[in-house]
Amino acid sequence: LNRRLAEFGTTIFAEMSALAVRTGAINLGQGFPDTDGPEEVREAAVRALRDGRGNQYPPGPGVPELRTAVAAHQLRRYGLSFDPDTEVLVTAGATEAIAAALLALLEPGDEVVALEPYYDSYAACIAMAGGTRVPVTLRPGAADGEPAFRLDLDELRDAVTDRTRLLLLNTPHNPTGTVLTRDELAAVAELAVERDLLVVTDEVYEHLVFGTAEHVPIATFPGMRERTVTIGSAGKTYAFTGWKVGWVTAAPALLTAVRSAKQYLTYVASGPFQYAVAEALALPDAYLTAYRQDMEAKRDLLAAGLAEAGFGVYRPAGTYFVTTDIRPLGESDGFAFCRSLPERAGVVAVPNAVFYDHREEGAPFVRFAFCKRVPVLEEAVGRLKSLA
Ligand code: PMP
Ligand code: GLN
Repeated sequence: LNRRLAEFGTTIFAEMSALAVRTGAINLGQGFPDTDGPEEVREAAVRALRDGRGNQYPPGPGVPELRTAVAAHQLRRYGLSFDPDTEVLVTAGATEAIAAALLALLEPGDEVVALEPYYDSYAACIAMAGGTRVPVTLRPGAADGEPAFRLDLDELRDAVTDRTRLLLLNTPHNPTGTVLTRDELAAVAELAVERDLLVVTDEVYEHLVFGTAEHVPIATFPGMRERTVTIGSAGKTYAFTGWKVGWVTAAPALLTAVRSAKQYLTYVASGPFQYAVAEALALPDAYLTAYRQDMEAKRDLLAAGLAEAGFGVYRPAGTYFVTTDIRPLGESDGFAFCRSLPERAGVVAVPNAVFYDHREEGAPFVRFAFCKRVPVLEEAVGRLKSLA
């Protein structure tokens, strides 16, 4: 393994899902729903396979039906207008979009300011691109009177140097569940314009926002459309994480850059599924509302159960993860806790420390996924209560 990748071992998701399989524990570690997305979308995939659409290499930028559907979605939901031919790119999940964006936009030595804790592929992709990551840590605080991880805008400002090439954002944020507010995003946008930075924004949980929280794409702020690469995914929005269909929207110059890298990563992927996702994006908004409400109820169930089991709970404003603090249980090392949890309670979770450069900052935090059927969550909560 080369020096750029040596610090990254097996991803925590593979490790923890393997642990769940080995021990038979309930897997609230890796974030994937245990119920597949809509029947009509699965049928659309079957039709595409049967009718021979996408069984051979689809067009490099993605099939026109899906690019058009992505553009229509951005316009309908956010008032953002993108040309499907020059400003939309289909990728092999958001994961490839992140990799392609960083490989395309970074020069060796460029600094990338990213919100810590960060989704694990960010650090690895910055490293593969020869960039340097500069973490800005989200710290425990409060939002709307509830415990929440917050961004310190002064710290963000201070993290930007003459070598900073881009800001890598993620909202709604994995693993903390923080949703950046309109005001926070306005300040980030102002900073990006003032310092002439690019922004790569991972918005895969855009439709999973709860209560009064609102997802606002940073591309909607003044001066941002031209400097922002926005990333979405059907995995999270429609509960098809195995299909690996993601997308990028960006102004032509940026989109062309990302496409240049993408074409040498996978070239193309997921042919028939692209047609199906085009149909998913055209579903009435009622589908997304129902999906969000279902996830919100599950959030509440798991958050309340974890609190009853004695965890400190950060009830998330978005995503499908609850971050907890294990110190009220008399524990302090999330890694050790997660490694012993299957045996102690028959549940798998993820130690947030893996998402930090400052490991000690993340040590007492543990993430549980709630994108699971209600009886599964109830069983998990019952088991976790035995810890106290
Ligand atoms: N970004 C974030 C924040 C994620 O949590 C994930 C994984 N669910 C991804 C990107 C990867 O998405 P995909 O499965 O579409 O590659
Ligand atoms: N995004 C999912 C999570 O955070 C997992 C994705 C993966 O396994 N790489 O749990």
